[in-house]
Amino acid sequence: VHVLVVEDDRTVADSLARGLARYGYHVTWAPTGGSALTAPAADMVLLDLGLPDIDGLDVCRELRARSDVPLIVISGRASETEKVVGLELGADDYIVKPFLIRELIARMRAVLRRRPIGPCPPQPTPGMNSVRPGRPRVPALRPPRDMCGRVGVDRRAHRAFLDGTEVPLSPKEYALLAFLTGRVDNLVTRKDIMTAVWDSNWSGPTKTLDTHVTALRHKLGDALRIQAVRGVGFRLEVRSDIPSEGSAS
Ligand code: CA
Repeated sequence: VHVLVVEDDRTVADSLARGLARYGYHVTWAPTGGSALTAPAADMVLLDLGLPDIDGLDVCRELRARSDVPLIVISGRASETEKVVGLELGADDYIVKPFLIRELIARMRAVLRRRPIGPCPPQPTPGMNSVRPGRPRVPALRPPRDMCGRVGVDRRAHRAFLDGTEVPLSPKEYALLAFLTGRVDNLVTRKDIMTAVWDSNWSGPTKTLDTHVTALRHKLGDALRIQAVRGVGFRLEVRSDIPSEGSAS
């Protein structure tokens, strides 16, 4: 698997390259946003946000506009707002420095696992191709989607799909789904969700969150399970082939 590491700090880039090589990844280094945008296509991009020439979020947006290559933002910026912006711009995940290489590898594997199968454009099998071929413009009817089992999330158009059919969502329902699908299997607190999806200065009741979770459960059926963890928050689990076990509560 060919990984493009976009990172201006040579020391960080070197240590990342060594770490990734131990796990069998082939690394290309881009020290600037400009060189990232002209680099050959990769199977995955690790993108630092603090770059000398172009803001990493703009690099993310530009890479997304031209391909749906799996992309993980790596940054020293820990604010939830920037995480959400990164995810809204189409990043598949977000990892904050400092991190362990093991944690990064786990996230990379998770992102590669979530990659489209089924109604989406065909993807190279990770590990099979060292270089991803030039990506054709995707036809309008099949936009690139971040697949979570049967649910597709088009982070550019802010639309969601169930088994290939669009699910009408309100803007907040979409934002909640986009936030949770960026954190599959992770327990996220009510406060984190409220802060990220509703208001960065939020403090107070979270009843509106429950209302939106209920709406998502209703609209997405048993394709995703949004599990309430009493007193803490929610955990989203992906169900790809598990038959319905009654209500997805
Ligand atoms: Ca940097």
